[in-house]
Amino acid sequence: MLPEAGSLWLLKLLRDIQLAQFYWPILEELNVTRPEHFDFVKPEDLDGIGMGRPAQRRLSEALKRLRSGPKSKNWVYKILGGFAPEHKEPTLPSDSPRHLPEPEGGLKCLIPEGAVCRGELLGSGCFGVVHRGLWTLPSGKSVPVAVKSLRVGPEGPMGTELGDFLREVSVMMNLEHPHVLRLHGLVLGQPLQMVMELAPLGSLHARLTAPAPTPPLLVALLCLFLRQLAGAMAYLGARGLVHRDLATRNLLLASPRTIKVADFGLVRPLGGARGRYVMGGPRPIPYAWCAPESLRHGAFSSASDVWMFGVTLWEMFSGGEEPWAGVPPYLILQRLEDRARLPRPPLCSRALYSLALRCWAPHPADRPSFSHLEGLLQEAGPSEGCCVRDVTEPGALRMETGDPITVIEGSPDSTIWKGQNGRTFKVGSFPASAVTLADAGGLPATRPVHRGTPARGDQHPGSIDGPFSWGPSSPAPAAWQSAATHPPASTGRSALPPE
Ligand code: ATP
Repeated sequence: MLPEAGSLWLLKLLRDIQLAQFYWPILEELNVTRPEHFDFVKPEDLDGIGMGRPAQRRLSEALKRLRSGPKSKNWVYKILGGFAPEHKEPTLPSDSPRHLPEPEGGLKCLIPEGAVCRGELLGSGCFGVVHRGLWTLPSGKSVPVAVKSLRVGPEGPMGTELGDFLREVSVMMNLEHPHVLRLHGLVLGQPLQMVMELAPLGSLHARLTAPAPTPPLLVALLCLFLRQLAGAMAYLGARGLVHRDLATRNLLLASPRTIKVADFGLVRPLGGARGRYVMGGPRPIPYAWCAPESLRHGAFSSASDVWMFGVTLWEMFSGGEEPWAGVPPYLILQRLEDRARLPRPPLCSRALYSLALRCWAPHPADRPSFSHLEGLLQEAGPSEGCCVRDVTEPGALRMETGDPITVIEGSPDSTIWKGQNGRTFKVGSFPASAVTLADAGGLPATRPVHRGTPARGDQHPGSIDGPFSWGPSSPAPAAWQSAATHPPASTGRSALPPE
């Protein structure tokens, strides 16, 4: 059974003092549905539901606090206070937050149950299922949305699920950023539903792993996504939030060239002087994405989000492969503390991999901040160019005049570069003279295209880039040219970067 909206204050109150197990007995056996009902509850009544005297004292203190500041401390207000009612007509119970003062901005709203109709299932997570939906606005206009409904188990959505669901609501309702998934509002129905912006193209992970004939994502687009992600994370960090679950599965595609950070169920405010959040109890955590201090001490911070950003970068350039696949979770921490790092994926330039390694610095303080990363990504990103002559040399990346070329790797001293043909999606080596860089004023490419320093630990047996010694007189091995859809399966995922 779902807690009624009108009694959610009780659940929050009890959760705050670690007495959530008494929610149902208090509600059903003592018939308490409003704070003032406690005036009629005697200690014997609480004894009768098994609540000890120390716990009763905690409850009494909490009730005093609740009453001394009903608006600022009432949990329903706290959670829903940022919502402006969408409709004027009374669609909610009389004790609903409809009567609460409208906040400044009032961008988010309570949505009547009948205004949202759910369609096809998009996916499911730990505590909710997500459906495609249509939200009919008071004006009659219909907006496509995603509706996340709180999963209701046989014993109702008690404890963690409800807490995480509502925490996700309370975090999302205050966020407004072009690369953060937008929450439209909340349906206080059964089940509770979050009405969110629809990302019609699904998760980035699903897109990365989509089988042929879906074309792979171009390297240039992946770099754009990384910049969007760093911007969104800098925004979250500036608001004192730590995401804790950054991964391509939690990045949604709102359009072919726009990602949105989603899944705020694990987001927590950074507390304390050290700006980190320490986990209170055992919870499932995404081991392979986590920083060593998160795995060892349960400590999360913007710096541990930066570590996860590095793993997300790795996923993107590995075609959505699972990081540390085959390594048991308990060994991952040991590997990380032994300085093992995920190897450089073939599509990832040395400069970008070097950035990932900085995100994976053992000490959180040595990792770049997200706002710093935004600039670093700009510098490390590939150059864009255009093919100025057909390239047909054996072993070279095939290109035709006019093909857009992303230069992944180049060097001032080398006549051979590595890049991706935007028309064919193929990656390989080619003569530098065949490409004009977009920012070189129409001249053939003769200058360095890489501003980053070479990455440590980027040796990757079987990777598609060669030692850059190939020239027209010494053809490149055919293996250098490969489709980005099929990155070679990575076996030794724990490459040790040389010191
Ligand atoms: P968890 O919540 O357990 O961490 P999750 O991210 O998979 O995991 P949800 O946030 O419940 O769980 O999302 C489930 C799936 O629904 C996602 O994988 C995604 O594919 C899809 N989905 C979620 N939100 C949207 C949205 N706004 N638009 C389109 N699809 C969505």
